Amino acid sequence: EILDAPQPVRVVGGPPPGAAALESRGVHAWFGDRLVLEDVSLAMPAHEVTALIGPSGCGKSTFLRILNRMHELVPSASLAGEVLLDGADIYAEGTRAQHARLRIGMVFQKPNPFPAMSIRDNVLAGLKLAGVKCGDKDGLVEQSLERAGLWREVRDRLHSPGGALSGGQQQRLCIARSLAVQPNVLLMDEPCSALDPTSTRRIEQTIVEISDEVTVVIVTHNMQQAQRVSHHCAFFLAGENEPGRVVEHGSTEQIFGEPEDSRTHDYVNGRF
Ligand code: ADP
Ligand code: MG
Repeated sequence: EILDAPQPVRVVGGPPPGAAALESRGVHAWFGDRLVLEDVSLAMPAHEVTALIGPSGCGKSTFLRILNRMHELVPSASLAGEVLLDGADIYAEGTRAQHARLRIGMVFQKPNPFPAMSIRDNVLAGLKLAGVKCGDKDGLVEQSLERAGLWREVRDRLHSPGGALSGGQQQRLCIARSLAVQPNVLLMDEPCSALDPTSTRRIEQTIVEISDEVTVVIVTHNMQQAQRVSHHCAFFLAGENEPGRVVEHGSTEQIFGEPEDSRTHDYVNGRF
């Protein structure tokens, strides 16, 4: 019997928080006249973690940026296809990019908190940028840091600068900042590549925990990590002078245990 469970803090405006399914249909991407991604159709189920794997340069980061409309920030970039968030195309006419970026958060390889800003203000920075209001800021700060696994370490120094934290803590602060906006989906582009093994494991634990409430899509070069955190895997590959494509996707068990394509088999077994 949980009588004292804290009430989840809700930010005002937008759809209710909670995991949402994300799906790409026939996504193509160009930089200038160069096609870098061809026909990517991928379902990323709610409440589950999808890992995108494959060699460098095959378009994984580009695909991730297409999923929250950051791709269009590059002047030479264009795309075709659809991205459905709970069935609604985020590229439909009249749909604002800002709305997609609120619902679909992003965490990058290099932790990027505002270094001189306090830990507390870092957590609230995403909300502020989005112009979203929250009645109980302290509650939201605690809840977000707690979900990112950082609350206990920083509760006594919420007013110290974000830049004073260790690399792993900074990355968890960035996760807290993303979660504070209460997105439906969290995209993570090699979030542990710059971190030591201990910090990496803590972030993996956080990923598994938050996937209850947020759909997670993670790019990783770490095959053990993909197996530890993901339910689904998509293997991307680009031939020489060819665009990136999804060679194979399926359950993580299937991709690692019995891949259908020999190129997937070689890649997941470290032959690349
Ligand atoms: P990955 O994340 O799998 O390493 P990327 O999505 O970063 O791959 O890159 C896919 C391809 O698109 C690469 O050939 C890369 O050089 C190219 N590319 C990425 N970003 C840009 C850009 N801003 N302008 C031009 N080409 C780009
Ligand atoms: Mg990349």
